[in-house]
Amino acid sequence: MGIIICQSCNKTIDVFEGEKVTTLYAKGNGCEHCKSTEQNNNK
Ligand SMILES: [Zn+2]
Repeated sequence: MGIIICQSCNKTIDVFEGEKVTTLYAKGNGCEHCKSTEQNNNK
């Protein structure tokens, strides 16, 4: 199986089936958790 990790907070944000153990870093502005944290900081 593989896991997708958020680059910003290093949390596991998704998993997927696969023959090999794979770790991928999510591209972009981060996961849902990071986005919600950003919004809270802007308030
Ligand atoms: Zn994140």
